[in-house]
Amino acid sequence: MFGRTITRQLSPTALRRSLSTTSGSRLKINSDRLLETLHSTCEWGAAHRYGEGPTETGMARLCLTDDDAKVRRWLQDEAEKLGCMVTIDQMGNMFARQQGSLGSPAPMTAMGSHLDTQPRGGRYDGILGVLAALEVLRTMKEHGFRTNYDIGLVNWTNEEGARFPKSMCSSGVWAGAIPVESAWGLTDIFNPAVTLRSELERHGFFGQVACSNDPATGYPLGAHFELHIEQGPILEEAGKSVGVVRGAQGYRWLTITVAGRDAHTGTTPLAARRDPVLAASKMIVASNVVAKKYGALASTGVMKLPRSSSTNTVASDVTFTLDIRHSQDRIVHAVQDESLQAFADIAHEDGKGVSFDWTLDTDSAAVEFDETCIKAVQDAATHLVGADQWMEVTSGAGHDSVYTSRHCPTAMIFVPCKEGVSHHPEEYCSPADCALGTQTLLEAVVNYDRRRE
Ligand SMILES: [Zn+2]
Repeated sequence: MFGRTITRQLSPTALRRSLSTTSGSRLKINSDRLLETLHSTCEWGAAHRYGEGPTETGMARLCLTDDDAKVRRWLQDEAEKLGCMVTIDQMGNMFARQQGSLGSPAPMTAMGSHLDTQPRGGRYDGILGVLAALEVLRTMKEHGFRTNYDIGLVNWTNEEGARFPKSMCSSGVWAGAIPVESAWGLTDIFNPAVTLRSELERHGFFGQVACSNDPATGYPLGAHFELHIEQGPILEEAGKSVGVVRGAQGYRWLTITVAGRDAHTGTTPLAARRDPVLAASKMIVASNVVAKKYGALASTGVMKLPRSSSTNTVASDVTFTLDIRHSQDRIVHAVQDESLQAFADIAHEDGKGVSFDWTLDTDSAAVEFDETCIKAVQDAATHLVGADQWMEVTSGAGHDSVYTSRHCPTAMIFVPCKEGVSHHPEEYCSPADCALGTQTLLEAVVNYDRRRE
């Protein structure tokens, strides 16, 4: 009686929502099917065998190669079998859309990632996210479950930037951050006669719709959820099974040039030198000390000496890079400022001193994902593993979600990968973690769908 009273008071929309709430929590993904699909489709691009087992290979499925085209066509077929409408845009991004029960024209809630890999990549980076999305759609279809709003999957083109050197390339175009002409014009690093656009056309993936989030010309999204392997050791070391990603680190890349003076190493006393290599070395150490103090990251990946440098000559100059990262922009800035102050002191410390100059090459602001999406993931994770088995993390790597977050509510789910190894043939995510991540994705999008206005 009580239940009927409540039911009568609910609007048709709210009633449909309460019904889908009940059935949504009972949906369980099929982990055998997920794993079978993942490994069988990895036959397109399998490479770098490292063990005896049938799945013990890495992947070399570079963007828009014949193998990539095969898995794309397969994905399109599978999505269409589920009754999805598949749309391909002019960067080859694939959108598969399942209609929601409200018949709303609002953009779909998307589950996206990428099917392309590094030349020596693994079976999980990106691939897990797309195939988990397919498994979620299959599970919903199988159980006759419909979300309120349209829901679907996205396969973003050229996330890795390995063959056509621009990472997160097509989500970047979609977000308006990368001009489409420059993306089309990217040339194959192995064959300059081949462009990304010519490969899109060769494989029939140059779609009709503009690659844009603009509702008038492109394919806007209502939200974007991405399941991805962590690609780092934090979850495994903390003994947690799910990472709720709050955002992505901000980073700044600097190039520092230190100028000294060539001098004979045997005849020039230390006090008479202007030694740029000594100063640069101390600067790198100092940046590490500053970063540690703030809990940030500072790294030097490139150090260049003049071609004419020799063992018995103090070098004339040296250039090094500095990559500073933290989840908060103000910390990135503080590490930069304190490091540069330390560099100024170091420049006077030894001999007759050196001079230095610096340039800011890249400034990428920290990204904070959407609170409602994050909450949808948190609730899913708490339901599945309990509040003490998941943790909040910040992504250290770039992902398509970083670009989507500029134009639609976005969140990511991380699952652990063995020893944090990624971009390597032995990259490994256990079947249980693949399944848990996929179930978390399902429950997160259902949670979000219920809360969508
Ligand atoms: Zn990836």
